[in-house]
Amino acid sequence: MDYQADAQLLAGKVIVVTGAGDGIGKEAAINYAAHGATVILLGRTAAKLEATFDAIEAAGYPLPAIVPMDLKQATAADYRGLAETFARQFGRLDGVLFNAGLLGVLCPFDQIKEKEWDEVMQVNVKSEFLMTQALLPLLRKTAKEQGEAVLLYTSSGVGRKGRAYWGTYAISKFAVEGMMEVLADELENTGVRVNSINPGGTRTKMRASAFPAEDPMNLKTPADLMPLYLYLMGKDSRGENGKTFVAQPK
Ligand code: NDP
Repeated sequence: MDYQADAQLLAGKVIVVTGAGDGIGKEAAINYAAHGATVILLGRTAAKLEATFDAIEAAGYPLPAIVPMDLKQATAADYRGLAETFARQFGRLDGVLFNAGLLGVLCPFDQIKEKEWDEVMQVNVKSEFLMTQALLPLLRKTAKEQGEAVLLYTSSGVGRKGRAYWGTYAISKFAVEGMMEVLADELENTGVRVNSINPGGTRTKMRASAFPAEDPMNLKTPADLMPLYLYLMGKDSRGENGKTFVAQPK
């Protein structure tokens, strides 16, 4: 995307990034901080979140917060606790980038195991439903006071067009798209904007596990995608609601 974000685009904002310890989420967290946001780094592996924290601190950006959380295990009560902590510590929440995701096992439909289905659905869909529900009051309050708040979900090419053997992952991304559209319609007059991004094939661990024979050097890097991630989190995308944005159009 041909977009140059203002250096202060996200100054003063508080933004949650899930899966902030690796891949696209790590890059987005660092970029949001570079544009002035206090970023809440949420993810499974504390050491990876600490590495993202260190990169932000070393660059002199606003100090982030770390929330180690396994989305496979977290409950509605955990998300309500998070919302209370954010309200107490920051008094606002300007945006959430739902980025954490699980690929699961790629296999023929009739070989999908129930346990693997449940895990992928838990991480990719249910955790996002529960976290969104818990954070909505604070997002609504922020939108009222600051003019807007942003929910950004992460989709996939297989979240709009199913593909053989992509089983639960593809179905989970269709559900993410559905959640985005329902919320965008429902929140239309609240100042909370809701969109999704389909990153396209990107040089990360998840992509490498889905396409082990591919040369990663032929892929875009997470850094290449950041103009779109910044655009959708900031005021320049005001008016955009209920859409899927494709980071790498053909
Ligand atoms: P990575 O595998 O590199 O990163 C995924 C992130 O999600 C990691 O930080 C991981 O944490 C976190 N995560 C996974 N499971 C859990 C869990 N149970 N609890 C908390 N955090 C968890 O993936 P990408 O950066 O490639 O993917 C980011 C998003 O983009 C995903 O939603 C993916 O589906 C989507 N996407 C990616 C594409 C690509 O080509 N890369 C293409 C289309 C969509 P940890 O490292 O600690 O395990």
